[in-house]
Order: sequence, then structure tokens, then C-alpha cells
Amino acid sequence: MSKREFQTEVNQLLQLIIHSLYSHPEIFLRELISNSSDALDKLRHLTLTDDAYKTVPFEPRIDLELDEEAKTLTIADSGIGMNEEDLVSHLGTIARSGTKNFLSQLSGDARKDSNLIGQFGVGFYSAFMVADKIEVVSRKAGEDKAWRWISDGQSGFDIEPAERSTVGTTILLHLNEEGKQYANSWRLQEIVKKYSNHIAFPIFLTYDKSEWNAEEKKSIKTRTTEQVNAASALWRRSKSELNDEDYKELYKSISGDSQDPLFWFHTKAEGSLEYTTLFYIPAKAPLDLYQADYRVGVKLYVKRVFIMDDAKELLPQYLRFVRGIIDSEDLPLNVSREILQQNRVLTSIRTASVKKILSELKSIATNKPDEYLKFIGEYNRPLKEGLYGDYANRETLLDLIRFKSTKVDGLTSLAEVMSRMKEGQKSIYYITGGSESLLRTSPLLEIYRKKDFEVLILEDEIDEIVFAGVDKYGEIDLKAVNKASTSEDLKEETETGKEEKAESLKPLLDKLKATLGDRVKDVRASVRLADSPSCIVFDESEPSLQMQQMLRAMGQKDVPAPVPTLEVNPDHEIVKKLLARTDDAITQDAAWLLFDQALLMEGVPLKDPATFVQRLNRMLSLSV
Ligand code: ADP
Ligand code: MG
Repeated sequence: MSKREFQTEVNQLLQLIIHSLYSHPEIFLRELISNSSDALDKLRHLTLTDDAYKTVPFEPRIDLELDEEAKTLTIADSGIGMNEEDLVSHLGTIARSGTKNFLSQLSGDARKDSNLIGQFGVGFYSAFMVADKIEVVSRKAGEDKAWRWISDGQSGFDIEPAERSTVGTTILLHLNEEGKQYANSWRLQEIVKKYSNHIAFPIFLTYDKSEWNAEEKKSIKTRTTEQVNAASALWRRSKSELNDEDYKELYKSISGDSQDPLFWFHTKAEGSLEYTTLFYIPAKAPLDLYQADYRVGVKLYVKRVFIMDDAKELLPQYLRFVRGIIDSEDLPLNVSREILQQNRVLTSIRTASVKKILSELKSIATNKPDEYLKFIGEYNRPLKEGLYGDYANRETLLDLIRFKSTKVDGLTSLAEVMSRMKEGQKSIYYITGGSESLLRTSPLLEIYRKKDFEVLILEDEIDEIVFAGVDKYGEIDLKAVNKASTSEDLKEETETGKEEKAESLKPLLDKLKATLGDRVKDVRASVRLADSPSCIVFDESEPSLQMQQMLRAMGQKDVPAPVPTLEVNPDHEIVKKLLARTDDAITQDAAWLLFDQALLMEGVPLKDPATFVQRLNRMLSLSV
């Protein structure tokens, strides 16, 4: 027998599991059963698709055996099994990088929720919550030798040759203090029903059943084996046969989530293509939603046979929060990932599925607005990502996304914004590039306020990129207010007296330009300001300051640093008075103060606060 070490991450994980993830230790059984079910799926897949395995008998079952006296529980399956290398690599390391990320994120006060175990696939190790010693005996399909893996979850593990007459895996748990409560047949049946009822294979429990014997007038124990789960592919039943509880149960068993889902959409397509889809929206966004190697939430089945659960091509990336099942009659069982990418059947299913999910969401938005707000609270941002790539569904996505705005307290839809447009208003306006409070107080909004136009507040960091590519909602133009071009809606304000104002302001504008030099592209009379003396704007084609900061933060080098144009408000008292001054020193200080305050309002920190304060004080001393 040879002693082997766990990979460092496994040790960390075991410490976490044993010491902090204690809230529902019962989930160990769900994890082990789902591993058995996976192993059965894999073997079935092989026997159906690989000639070398055609002769391997496939008699799928999962057996739980309870010894109440010895406080042991075994979980055995007739699945694909593991050989020596598999045991070392699957039960001694953590392959998924997502799990590693998860570990590094979990600090002392992180949510200690056993839910996480399922989400991050640390399944097998959860058995150490209830066992102080685990023995795994396994024989891999196509091989004669069997192996035993033994560990106490602390000092590494041992592997030795063993005996197993058939292919499969047996996991023997020596229950610890915490685990003794599971040496109880009632408890086990309850847990299997709760989490694993819809596992497609029969789960049997063997235990000492007590039955009252009328003749002997006492209860007698007999060793009994009973099937505990329903073992049906529930999604293949018709909607009328299923109730809410069925759907919720299935959700919990496939997602590892302990909360009820927000919504589910169950569709049976019959026609040129036959398939069933059942999609769920989790109540809380998955924790890995914004990680590059997020876990795919949709499982692919072909004719009830599990095929894979990590195919990113099943749904577009922006719908990665969706959980559920796609079960097709038309795909080949041996469909590979490469084939999936350009398979016409799958493309059709995917297109129809996206339409279905979005249209169901739309009807919830209309019919159950309160429920819909819960959804938006979690998933507004992924929907916005959809605007970026899913052109075909852009209009629907625009209807689904919710916005902050200058006219409402909570969130609003574009349809509502449209219904509030002023008579003759041509475009819908939005402002991006900064925090909500910064945007709400931006001088750029002044002219819209004056006209009583609504402006959408797009404060999410992805908004600027996403909405730069969206120029219409239906027939109506969507326009950013922080770009320099002016709109037809504002023609009256912007055109009247423009020339004269610019003309009369010219001497001042020239002085300001001379002072600010290459820090500005131009200085001009503003037509968009009401209360502020100045603001900065960028050309339509240039990224805003926030966007530049973001690009740099994301590690992009050579981000162009476009130079802003300073606009001053000809009707503002300060500007009017400045125009009348002849002393250069004051005009120069004022030039910098007008520029710096415009930057501050955009949320840009000053390059040289000391000089700014000196100038401010010089001005103050003149007026005090
Ligand atoms: P996951 O199921 O997310 O991969 P687990 O920790 O639950 O993570 O299991 C790790 C790996 O161990 C599985 O991916 C599988 O390869 C292997 N394994 C676990 N249990 C079994 C089993 N009963 N039969 C065959 N392989 C198993
Ligand atoms: Mg598992």
C-alpha cells in the first residue's frame, strides 16, 4: 500500500468543508448519488456509441446499503467505474479551475452555504462532513482489475488492489459523530426523495425493516431492499401531469440550488424536430456568473440519455444563468462537442429556445410586474450583454431591460419612456459614463431638464460599450447626451442666437484657448448648459473618460487619450462678467477653474489639486 498526498487545493477544500460548510450535511448523499448517476450515464453512452463496449452488460442501478449497528453506509453503482489513475486524478485533485477560484474567494466571512458545494462541483469531498473514513472500491468498464482507495480526509489517501466481481463503484462511509444521524433508513429515504427523486436510474435501499408480527406480538427485523426514488425523466411528462412541487424538486436536483427557482418554461416541440426543453431561472444569480469559466447550467440529453452538461453552445453566453434540460430526439447519441458547434438540429433548438425564454420573460414582465422586478434585480446586466451579440433578438431584449431615469424613482422600460415622450420629441436620450449620482448631476442634463425631456441614467460600466451599438428602439433614435453632436430635438435652443453668441464671446474664447493650450481641443460657446458655467464634451467617435479608465483597468495598453472640448455657457453670470474683464491674470485663473470644475463634474480627479486650491483662493479673496 502506498501513501499519497492530496493536492494542496484538496486539503484547503477539505478543511473548509469539514469546518465551515456544515449547514446541510445531508447533501453529501445527493452528491454521491449524482456521481453514481453520472457514472451510469457515461457507461450507457459508451455501450451505445463505442463498439468496444457493445458487449458490456448495462444494468443500471444505484444501491444504498445501511448497517445501523456498524454505522456504515455504502453507495454502489454499476456505472463506468475508475481505475488506479482515475482514482488518483479524480479523488486526489481538483481539476476545475472554477473551484480553485471559488476557494480563493471564500474568505473568513464569506457566505457559508452548502449550496456552494453543488455549484462548484466539490461533490465527492462533501462526504467527509459525515464520515471519518471513506473506502472506494471501483472497477472500470473494460478492465479486470479493481482498486481500493482509502482516506480519512486528512492525511492523504492509500490505493491498493481489490476485488469487485462487476464493473462499477462502491463507496463505503464510516459515519462519524455528525454522520450517525444518517444511519437511519427513514432519514435516508427522505433525503433521496428530496434531492434525487428524478435521477433517471432506480435507487434501492437495503436495510433492516421492522415489522409488527401479530403472532409473536413483537416487531421483527428483516433485511429488505426497496426502491426509493421515482426514477423518471420528469421533463418528458406532459405539463398537465406535473405540479409546481414536481418542477421545483427537479430544479433542486439538477441545479444543486436549495432555493426555489423564480420561473420555469417547459416546452415540447413536435414537428420537423422533436425535443423537450425545460428551463429554469434561479432566484439568485449564480456566483460564477461573471467568471470566464462559468459552469454551464443546461444539460443535453438525447432520447433521455444524458449526453453532456458543459456545452456552452446550448444557449448564448448571455443566458448562462439559465438552468435546465434540452432533450432531443433527433441528435445522434455520439454527438461530440465539435459536431454540436455546427449542427443544424442544435442550432434550430437553440434559436427556438432563446425565443421561448425571452418571450416567456416578456409575458411575465407584462402580467406579473412584481415577479419580473425580482428577475431584473439579478439579471438586467446579462440581458444587456445580449444586446451586444444577439442582433436577432435585440428588440425583445430592449423591451426586457430596465432603466433608471431622470423621471422615475425605480426602474422603467423603454416602452414607458416612449409613452412619456413630449409632443414632437424625436429621440430618446441617455447618459453614460460614471456613477449614478455623477450622471444625475451632470451639467449635460441641464438643457433636457429645461425642456422637460426624460433622460435614461445608464450607470453600469458595460452600458457605454453596449449602447454605443444600439441606435434605435423601434423607429425611435436612441442618443447619448454626452457626445458632442446636437440633436434635432434641441434645434430651437441650440440654433437661436448661436452665431451672435459665439461672435460676442469670441474674445473670451480665444483667451481661454490660449491659456488651456493643448489640454483642450477647442473652447466654444455651449448651447446645452443652463445652470453650470462650463462642461467638457468629446467627439461622437471617442470613448468617454470612464471608458478610457475602464479599458486601462482591463489591461489594454495604448488607450488613446482624447482631448476634450471645453464648452462655456454664454448666459452664465460668471462668463458674462469674465467677458467684461480685461485683466489677464483673473481670466487665466478663471480659465483653469472653469476647466477643472468641468472635469470634477465628470468624476475626473484633478491632476494638481494644490494649484487648483491656490487659484480658488485667489478668486475667493477678490470676492470676500
Ligand atoms: P464532479 O462530480 O463535479 O466532477 P466530484 O467531486 O463529485 O466532482 O467527483 C469527482 C470525479 O470523481 C467525477 O468527475 C468522476 O470522474 C469521479 N467519480 C466520483 N464518483 C464516481 C463514481 N461513483 N463512479 C465513477 N466516477 C466517479
Ligand atoms: Mg459530483
